Amino acid sequence: MANIRALPPELINQIAAGEVIERPSSVVKELVENSLDAGATRIEVDIEAGGARLIRVRDDGGGIALDDLPLAVASHATSKIGSFDDLEHVASMGFRGEALASVSSVSRFALVSRTAGQEAAFRIEVDGGRLQAARPAQHPPGTSVEVRDLFYNVPARKKFMRAERTEFAHIDDLLKSLSLARSSVEFRLSHNGKPVRVWKAARDEQAVLQRVAEVLGAEFPQRSLRVEHAAAGLQLSGWVGLPTASRAQADAQYFYVNGRLVRDRIVAHAVRQAYADVLFHGRHAAFVLYLELDPAGVDVNVHPAKHEVRFREQRLVHDFLFRTLHEALAQTRAGQVASPAH
Ligand code: ADP
Ligand code: MG
Repeated sequence: MANIRALPPELINQIAAGEVIERPSSVVKELVENSLDAGATRIEVDIEAGGARLIRVRDDGGGIALDDLPLAVASHATSKIGSFDDLEHVASMGFRGEALASVSSVSRFALVSRTAGQEAAFRIEVDGGRLQAARPAQHPPGTSVEVRDLFYNVPARKKFMRAERTEFAHIDDLLKSLSLARSSVEFRLSHNGKPVRVWKAARDEQAVLQRVAEVLGAEFPQRSLRVEHAAAGLQLSGWVGLPTASRAQADAQYFYVNGRLVRDRIVAHAVRQAYADVLFHGRHAAFVLYLELDPAGVDVNVHPAKHEVRFREQRLVHDFLFRTLHEALAQTRAGQVASPAH
């Protein structure tokens, strides 16, 4: 047996990357979430070769000060939490301070940023974990991150990347879910230089519903009911599809907890139960639902990719969801769907 050794930092980051960075869309998720946390109102995502060649995310958010640039790509360095107490109340999408360190350890990475107070922008580059000194650059206030040749130094991972089309489809799906999460933010997505999607900032409910229709289909607004209910510190809003909007696959289910798309057992069970007597066996409901609650009531530090959450009061959340949705759907059972959303 060899002696015990401490691992070099690049290797530690590459191991961490294995947990969160599964494919190009995982990189896009981390970068866009950073832009959202930075208060961006406009986020542009440019992809080349399904993300294998290039992923670029550009935002007009708060930017990163020159002195902080090396920290942005250091592991366990974050501006979002500073204590265990903060972790219990975390309202930002990120908090682990690991995404940029991970991504930059498995790609050719560059970040250009400028804060509102700075005259000039600065650029740093990281190549396979090695950080180069910051240089002045051109950039409006905000941040651009460029990730080239993802997994170029991790052949085992690279092998798992699928066809360009498949990887881009994952990115497109992710952008759809993010566009529904933050309808006040403008999103643009391009692939190989061609614009694929433009979601302008939605200023009113009609515009939000247009986004919903783009993601769930043009008929969804007519085949859904608006839900809005608050009780016991929980607030649920959104649209639940009528049985006529149901699908053979569970591919139109968007459930957000404090703005974060989650796949949760408790939520899934409550929704399934609420739909139980209006849907045929084998059919899946379509919905876009937003649950808001005190961040202290939900633990997001369950999985590195944060798809899962743990509610402190699971029973309460379950019953609130079930009752709210069951009641909304009761109208369809009585055959008196008077006012579908439009
Ligand atoms: P986390 O998001 O968990 O803090 P990241 O590795 O994703 O960790 O980012 C590290 C830090 O870099 C963030 O805490 C933030 O201060 C800064 N940062 C990253 N991306 C951006 C961005 N687009 N705009 C402004 N600051 C950013
Ligand atoms: Mg982050």
